[in-house]
Amino acid sequence: MPSLPFAPRPMAGEGLSSWVARLAAHNFVTAADFWSGLGCDDPQDLAPPDGLFDQLSESTRLNANELRRFFAPDPATIAAPLALSRPAFIRGAACPACCRDAADRVGDHFVSASSASSWRFSCPKHRVRLAGLDGYGLVLQDGAARFVHEGSRTSIGATHFAGRPAEFTLAFEDALMRALSGQPPGPQWLPRTPATFLVSATALIEVVLWRPGSTTTFAHQFDEIRNGSATFSIGASDRRHGTALLADQGPRDRMNVYAAVATLLAWPQARSHPFSTVMRWNDPHSPGPFVYAFDELDDRLRAILTDRLQAWPGCIATPARRALQRPR
Ligand SMILES: [Zn+2]
Repeated sequence: MPSLPFAPRPMAGEGLSSWVARLAAHNFVTAADFWSGLGCDDPQDLAPPDGLFDQLSESTRLNANELRRFFAPDPATIAAPLALSRPAFIRGAACPACCRDAADRVGDHFVSASSASSWRFSCPKHRVRLAGLDGYGLVLQDGAARFVHEGSRTSIGATHFAGRPAEFTLAFEDALMRALSGQPPGPQWLPRTPATFLVSATALIEVVLWRPGSTTTFAHQFDEIRNGSATFSIGASDRRHGTALLADQGPRDRMNVYAAVATLLAWPQARSHPFSTVMRWNDPHSPGPFVYAFDELDDRLRAILTDRLQAWPGCIATPARRALQRPR
């Protein structure tokens, strides 16, 4: 690949697929064509092939080893990667506040590498909700690359209200990040070790998604945006597990699922999500979230769950078993 006429540098913390999409936009080719020019039939940000950074170095005049180090995939992303957005060919989600800051400096919109993990739903810097990129293209406007919605032509900073998720949900995300880096999740959570926290959170994702709900799913009860569209649910025959179930969902749906999971993982006195308060789950006499999560499961799902919880850590298996044994 020849030297590019214009090659913006990577931004601090930017993901590889985001940078490549910006290189493409500034040189008037689609990200798909740019990747195929690099010899890849799809964005290779999780396992960059040997030679990719030499090619990128040649065309951008940046040091190949620096690029290799800068874009080394994060273990949290490799363990739980998001699907690529279409048509932007970017893995991750945008922070409306980061994009707005960049636009104020007449810079490009971009996506951070950390947002490519399906465990992440808020910007680590601004703690606002990330915005999914499906339906967005990266297009040049007044010399800068902007995420613009294909249908409405409006840009991401302009349309997405940069709202802060409930503190309880952010506390869960913080505990996840601690667990992923090998630190204890914290005293407000039932699992005490990083390993049991991750195993428990992963196991509960599918349970939360099983509950069909006659009107709304369990996860959707935690929705902070409330514009009518319902969170998805899954059947017991779905063969995916854990974060793979969330890999092609936007930040909002993932955040709702995690808020529901967080309620199941928190000590009763630590459940401060507004929905927990509405359900009186802080009240020691209320049946609690495990009973609530399971009460609409049919006999088949209850049997699968009873079987599955034998492999769960005791901290969640015990309350789950107690909830299943309650007379209906
Ligand atoms: Zn941000």
